[in-house]
Amino acid sequence: MAADMGYLRYDDLVARLKAIRDEAPDMVLLEELGKSPEGRIIFGCTLSLGPRAPEDKPALLVDANVHAGEVTGSAAALYLLESLVRERSQPEVRELLSSTTLYVIPRISVDGAEAYLTGPEMLRSAKRRYPEVPLPPGWYAEDVDGDGKILWMRWEDPLGEWTVDPEDPRLMRRRRPGQKGPFYRLMAEGVYRDEAGEVAAVYPQLRPAPSPYGLDFNRNYPAFWQPEAQQPGAGEFPLSEPETRAVAQFIAGHKNIGAYVSLHTTGGVLLRPPSSGGDEKLSPEDRRLFQALTPYLKELTGYPVLSTYEAFATGDDRPLVKGADDWAYEHRGILAFTLELWDLDGRAGARGYSQGGVKALLALSPEEREEDEKKRLKWNDEVLQGRGFHPWRPFDHPQLGKVEIGGWDRKFVLQNPPLDPPHLLEHEGKVTRRLAEGLLGLLPRLAIPSAELKPLGEGLLQLQVTVANEGYLGTAITAQTHKALKLPGVEVEVELSPGWRSLSGPLRRDVGQLAGWGDPSTPAQNAVHLRWVLQGKGPLAVKVTARHPRAGRDETRVEGVATP
Ligand SMILES: [Zn+2]
Repeated sequence: MAADMGYLRYDDLVARLKAIRDEAPDMVLLEELGKSPEGRIIFGCTLSLGPRAPEDKPALLVDANVHAGEVTGSAAALYLLESLVRERSQPEVRELLSSTTLYVIPRISVDGAEAYLTGPEMLRSAKRRYPEVPLPPGWYAEDVDGDGKILWMRWEDPLGEWTVDPEDPRLMRRRRPGQKGPFYRLMAEGVYRDEAGEVAAVYPQLRPAPSPYGLDFNRNYPAFWQPEAQQPGAGEFPLSEPETRAVAQFIAGHKNIGAYVSLHTTGGVLLRPPSSGGDEKLSPEDRRLFQALTPYLKELTGYPVLSTYEAFATGDDRPLVKGADDWAYEHRGILAFTLELWDLDGRAGARGYSQGGVKALLALSPEEREEDEKKRLKWNDEVLQGRGFHPWRPFDHPQLGKVEIGGWDRKFVLQNPPLDPPHLLEHEGKVTRRLAEGLLGLLPRLAIPSAELKPLGEGLLQLQVTVANEGYLGTAITAQTHKALKLPGVEVEVELSPGWRSLSGPLRRDVGQLAGWGDPSTPAQNAVHLRWVLQGKGPLAVKVTARHPRAGRDETRVEGVATP
């Protein structure tokens, strides 16, 4: 089984998934979840060990690459699968995957990622024209010089708002009052296209055009969905796209999913609910839960843990980020996160949004921004030997005349870690694995620690059963679950040998939800003791089963004989 990490084309990714399954068919199930408009299958992978069926155990879902260009997520998801399969004989892995189930959807945007990996475009979700309106005239980001990349263009212009740093001519600085020229323009590499889509000889303005591929799968989920005019990229209606529908159907069809991580880039931050406002939007119970988990989640990932709102609030009333994790939490009560992998700023010692949020980032002065840019360039020179920043080189632009094209490699430095040195991408795989194992370890786990039969005389036996949740989380996972769903409680079922019956009520009981040991109340209500008085003749064999959609199942058997 291959172990090297990389940014795999679709066929290579599928071949690796099939290799994982072929290596450990008793542990790995590979399923087709849906099909993209270009005909690619979206695969889901189930990892499970031991005799218990995957759906009879609490589960974590990890998905990746809902955003076409965030291919680090796919690589990390594959690392998670391959490393667990490779280490399946280790006791910790056996124990974890015998008591829990891991579901992985390694690439959602199967068409978009393929276009991203084979063409120059930066793509949000798919190379699908959206919204379907005529393209306005404007400057379109395109690979003008044919080097396969869309970089930046700069050129001298007395009206320009930029200057070149005298010490490092790679670095562009904002023009300051009182400063002398030469001044520069700076814009994404591209051309001006008129109403007919032609590269016009003259252009009226330097106005960038919106991407023709404006769809954002992560704005297509039902929670807080808003139409296009209010939420760009939203899609025609919630789950209008086959890719998002495949994920939603998977989640809805697997009632055992209690935790969910969606892998994205970039920033180096673990995002948690809510996205709709400050923590006062959460119930007091869930506020406590997220606060209590923060140090542990930070320790697992090495990344700050922020609410999506905290990270992205800008201070004005721009619409906030919302996505699959919001849907999972708000509508299903799942403990849901977005993991933004790859922290270029952190590695370079610069300021990223993961540290103080977007609001703090927007508040940086031009001087502070340039200081940070110098740190990034220094990191590029030291760690990448300068490969991450394409030197400015002269180019004859059809519309602008003499320009220079260059700048950061957007795809494989800014958006995803460069493959060389390899430890950068490997780090994100390890972060993903640690978080996945940590979350699997928090899930509720139903158990029957004891079941006993006690003779009461006169042909009667008393059955005493303890049913417990051995996990950190309660069986409902979050308090939000109760606002969102009708979740069945823990069901305890007793089956008796023929000729025996209960004198004390039904043999099948719903005992409600059980807390986890992580519940702040003490003692935590994570066990329940049940009694039945049984009447019959001869030997009695009892089978006790406890089951819950999110906490798994356990069963035990006990035998006894009634004394007259
Ligand atoms: Zn993303």
